[in-house]
Amino acid sequence: MATTRPRRIGILGGTFNPVHIAHLRGALEVVEQLALDELRLIPSARPPHREAPQATAEQRLAMVELAVADEARLKVDDRELRRDKPSFTIDTLESVRGELATDDQLFLLVGWDAFCSLPTWHRWQALLDHCHIVVLQRPDADSDAPQALRDLLAARSVSNPQGLVGPCGHIAFVWQTPLAVSATQIRHLLAEKRSVRFLVPDAVLAYIQTHGLYRAQTDS
Ligand code: ATP
Repeated sequence: MATTRPRRIGILGGTFNPVHIAHLRGALEVVEQLALDELRLIPSARPPHREAPQATAEQRLAMVELAVADEARLKVDDRELRRDKPSFTIDTLESVRGELATDDQLFLLVGWDAFCSLPTWHRWQALLDHCHIVVLQRPDADSDAPQALRDLLAARSVSNPQGLVGPCGHIAFVWQTPLAVSATQIRHLLAEKRSVRFLVPDAVLAYIQTHGLYRAQTDS
């Protein structure tokens, strides 16, 4: 009987408002460094009152789909947008896990800023029961890890991402090309009628222009 090796699946959640080169380049570099079979970008729902005058969930999803269309290793997973309320990451992990084999490996990618906020996430201490956590450095973030995270790192981090063995349970930092790009910066540039060319893929730029997105100044 043929034996199949465990699959290696990465997930990167975010609002992707809009998706930009730091998301995409970071995702691709992790795919290659960790030899992932695929990496899924999972756009998160936002409470409806926070949508306008920003892009809608459908528009954020459409931009992520355009961004990865030519890169087979990056996929889009719209499960959080199909739910009728915003999902917690733990719910998404449980849902993805439910579709995988027990020994498949799941890697949750988070930027350093998101990682520092982990102790505020719903049932955060259960996250590592479902996945490994891969932390992306973020040159534009200056957050400090709270004590609870430092304790978690002391117990669960491995110095080399190749040491993330088994289906779940450990944390590693990965080096990737530092790109100090944020969606906030992109929205601000667009509101000031400035170009965001080369900060987002050309197809995303075309979509933003066609749909007249992010023209209004907002506080975020
Ligand atoms: P915003 O500026 O609207 O807060 P963002 O650029 O941080 O958006 P998100 O969609 O919130 O983008 O990010 C999704 C994930 O990608 C998060 O884990 C975030 O930390 C990570 N990320 C975003 N930008 C970068 C970057 N420049 N370098 C590394 N990680 C990043």
